[in-house]
Amino acid sequence: MKIVMLGAPGAGKGTQAKMIAAKYQVPHISSGDIFRSNIKNGTELGKKAKEYMDQGLLVPDELTVDLVIDRVSWDDCKNGYILDGFPRTIPQAKALDAALAKNGSGENCGLDFAINVDVPDENIVRRMSGRRACLKCGATYHTVYNPSKKGDVCEVCGEALVLRDDDKPETVQKRLAVYHEQTQPLIEYYDGQSILKTVDGTQDMNDVFAAIVRILEA
Ligand code: ADP
Ligand code: ADP
Ligand code: ZN
Repeated sequence: MKIVMLGAPGAGKGTQAKMIAAKYQVPHISSGDIFRSNIKNGTELGKKAKEYMDQGLLVPDELTVDLVIDRVSWDDCKNGYILDGFPRTIPQAKALDAALAKNGSGENCGLDFAINVDVPDENIVRRMSGRRACLKCGATYHTVYNPSKKGDVCEVCGEALVLRDDDKPETVQKRLAVYHEQTQPLIEYYDGQSILKTVDGTQDMNDVFAAIVRILEA
């Protein structure tokens, strides 16, 4: 099962990707988490990526594509994976298709679903300002909709939760504009491949998940 999650920043891609990964026992691969862990570890890639992320811009394809395409070639991806936050541009999607066509055969060829978690812009700023992230294990919470049972530390690993620098309202507006310009065209791209499925992301997160499970098991 190879799935790509589409949707605006804050639509709930990561939340759903983690739930799908847990239910179907496939890895959840988040390009944003990979960049954030590089930033945390002070790598060269992290330094370069941070300059773009802090401004709400996309990290250039040259720094992104090889990184994610390498990740999906790991052994744990044999039975599939959930890609969250990649691809975000048409060239990224084409590079992924090319890599899959090269390495796959038979059932292992191509993506199965592109799931578009649809949330209007009006709801996004509220979601983002309440998002709290664990930069150690990648868990995400929301102060109102999904609070950590341990208050301001991560339920999973105990790390202090933070409001990401790029979740401040000014940067969120910029990220939304970038989304509409560079990422939204992927909806049409995957519709053209007949693998696009759209779910209403404004529902409660468990209802969104139920809708996704119905699609995957149809
Ligand atoms: P969100 O979950 O809120 O959509 P992510 O964690 O996916 O945010 O991404 C955070 C930031 O990391 C993005 O705003 C962008 O700067 C960078 N990033 C993540 N994935 C990609 C990608 N596939 N291409 C370019 N930049 C990316
Ligand atoms: P994305 O990965 O698309 O950027 P997240 O999964 O990180 O989005 O969700 C953004 C914020 O909204 C998080 O704080 C998350 O807890 C919260 N959230 C996710 N799904 C829902 C939902 N269906 N209803 C309300 N809040 C949600
Ligand atoms: Zn954690």
